[in-house]
Amino acid sequence: MSRVFNFSAGPATLPLEVIEEIQRDLPDYAGSGMSIMESSHRGKEYSAVHDEAVANTKELLQLDDDHAVLFMQGGASTQFPLIPMNLLGAGQTADYTNSGTWAGKAIKEAKLLGNVNIAADCGKEIPTRVPTESELQLTPGAAYLHITSNETISGAQWKSFPKTEAPLVADMSSDMLSRPFDANQFGLIYAGAQKNLGPAGMALVVIRKDLADRAPENLPSIFKYKTHIEANSLYNTCPCFTIYTYMLVTRWIKKMGLNALYQQNIDKAGKLYAAIDGSDFYKGTAVQECRSDMNVTWRLTNEDLESKFIADAAEQGLKGLKGHRSVGGVRASIYNAFPTAGIDALVSFMQEFERANG
Ligand SMILES: *Cc1c(COP(=O)(O)O)cnc(C)c1O
Repeated sequence: MSRVFNFSAGPATLPLEVIEEIQRDLPDYAGSGMSIMESSHRGKEYSAVHDEAVANTKELLQLDDDHAVLFMQGGASTQFPLIPMNLLGAGQTADYTNSGTWAGKAIKEAKLLGNVNIAADCGKEIPTRVPTESELQLTPGAAYLHITSNETISGAQWKSFPKTEAPLVADMSSDMLSRPFDANQFGLIYAGAQKNLGPAGMALVVIRKDLADRAPENLPSIFKYKTHIEANSLYNTCPCFTIYTYMLVTRWIKKMGLNALYQQNIDKAGKLYAAIDGSDFYKGTAVQECRSDMNVTWRLTNEDLESKFIADAAEQGLKGLKGHRSVGGVRASIYNAFPTAGIDALVSFMQEFERANG
């Protein structure tokens, strides 16, 4: 077996021990004589998986009883419209911060459905950043405030979260369960699974249950958070295999410890930022205070060398470093499961590449 260091932004590196466990258990799950992806979503084997996935999430986030954990199909992009469809009443306004591409997509969908106030806009700034709490221009009585906790493409991350009167809604697709934080402070959190949590196609949603009552009666059942809360995410056939993988990933996070994992994440990102800052050959693209621990973005001072940098790195087994097609540059996505050895290999490569091309 030969595994590369996979810096892809998503789908992304998963813990090897989780992949190996899936492989081992695939033909005959827990003595059932069938794989978990062939098992009924209402059967004994899958029910235990589902319940543990919910329980692990509650434990890791120390959720109170006012909040529910949901697994919903369609990834994070489906949540963009579902949030205003459920939470933004007629005549109300929702506040959104614009911090880049992903926030922009959430805003675009919300505008199709109701009144949106842009509470702060730094979406097009370079170097890239997220807004500060003090610059937010909030609407009195807003339905909610939406933020993007980590801009996966530009590499800017909220380091602390604003305290607001309106329910706080966050797209945490690329940093969910990468650090300890007060989840009970939020009205709704959602995260596409494929960055930090498992395979693609599902969103983890944490919602304060009372907010689900806001949905208009005539909203189709499948689009209502209330439906999924009442059915414990089993209203329809849920993405069982993805939830199974997610359950194993949360088991792994519990074993590692969220605090220890966070420390490891800061150390990993810190090594890369030190390599970038320690040389005039490279320059980071995010404002210092907002630098993401999950997606480290930078440019080569000589941008003409970037494609060679990415190609040479790939040849050495450092894959997926190309920046998003909309911004160019280099991006190292280093979620929870990305190993420190891969960071060390990239830092050595960066130094070597500078020696050969600087
Ligand atoms: C990847 C990503 C999304 C989109 O996720 P899909 O599962 O592809 O819909 C949304 N928001 C952020 C911050 C992301 O990183």
